[in-house]
Amino acid sequence: MIKDIVKNLEVSSTLRINELSKELESKGKKVFKFGFGQSPFKIPEDVIDELKNNAFKNKYLPMQGLPELREAVANYISNKKNYNYKAENILVGPGTKELMFLLQMLFDGEVILPTPSWVSYEPQAILGRNKVHWIETRRENNWFPTSNDIEKIILKNEKKNYLLLLNSPNNPSGQICENLDEISKIIKKYNILVLSDEIYSELYFTKNYKSISNYCPENTIISTGLSKWCGAGGWRLGYFIIPNELTRLKNSLKVLASETFSSVSAPIQYAAIAAHQNDHTNYINKSRKILKLVGEYVYNNLKSNKILINKPQGGFYLMPEFLDMKYKSSQEMCSSLLTDTGVVLLPGSDFGFSKDKLITRLSFTDFDGKEFMDNLPEKQNLDNSLVDKFAPKIVEGTKRLKAWVESK
Ligand code: GLU
Repeated sequence: MIKDIVKNLEVSSTLRINELSKELESKGKKVFKFGFGQSPFKIPEDVIDELKNNAFKNKYLPMQGLPELREAVANYISNKKNYNYKAENILVGPGTKELMFLLQMLFDGEVILPTPSWVSYEPQAILGRNKVHWIETRRENNWFPTSNDIEKIILKNEKKNYLLLLNSPNNPSGQICENLDEISKIIKKYNILVLSDEIYSELYFTKNYKSISNYCPENTIISTGLSKWCGAGGWRLGYFIIPNELTRLKNSLKVLASETFSSVSAPIQYAAIAAHQNDHTNYINKSRKILKLVGEYVYNNLKSNKILINKPQGGFYLMPEFLDMKYKSSQEMCSSLLTDTGVVLLPGSDFGFSKDKLITRLSFTDFDGKEFMDNLPEKQNLDNSLVDKFAPKIVEGTKRLKAWVESK
């Protein structure tokens, strides 16, 4: 009595690894939780206060989201983009994952996914019965597709509708897309729809970060929320920012929202107003500095002639590729690494790479972000003694991973 498309799916690997890591830890195993990707930082105090102040709000809110929150999000985002978003352009959901799922439900066409892509994009496209085209990307191009790669797929059948997923800073590669201009030309030429997953967009480490929504806002749905920059993954609050040109699509999404989650938890929406209206520049800058320091620590200590990695440019992740290892699959290698060392990584096959490519995702968030942030010195150049002191599991896990690779 279960549909075949569901029977063939497994639970999401990110959530599975989070639960497995905790279970092993509770059984007394020393585990380095480099599998799941969630913010190590606490939610800013003023945002928590607003949640407390609004805990009594018990009425359903509008389907599209609280108007004051949508207005605050629209103002916040319009300051960063060359598009004047209004409250009506925002759709609030219980995390962006649910909104992405609803988008796949309503979208009638084919989906273009760069390898690597976050674990849930493909299963959601399958559930929406949309054909998936994977694009192989290259390390030299920061693991993002070129405009030619995208055009080749479109030219197979120009009559179809296409939905391109772009995620920069990227999960799992930790890289930023730098060829946005050429990609945007193809998007405009064929008028394709883009879902720009910008959930890590506050957490870049490079100068002049831009996303595809800066180049072709009319074709782009921006997907973002509180989970990453505001340390509030467990609150499950995300938004789609949908331009006027895609109003029909927005209205259909609203129908699906109303038939599924109804409206998002009221107290959390009120608290989210504070997240956007109050100034969190200092909190975000500190988060960036710490993540950059920790990410570069892992990168510098791991890269070798047996481990290829690109320097992290944003978000929580690195994507180490292991050479000269005698494993048949990245899955098998990750299992063996966990048994031998307690270090948890996710296999590249969960992100669209072929099973035999020994590439993995490493999340460098296994540290107490509050303690690190409270003790962060004001000076510009931070040194690794801070990582030793405030991220000891990152240091130990990196050391174990390196020694394991060298012993093979
Ligand atoms: N985005 C996080 C990750 O990739 C976890 C959230 C999720 O997968 O639902 O690890």
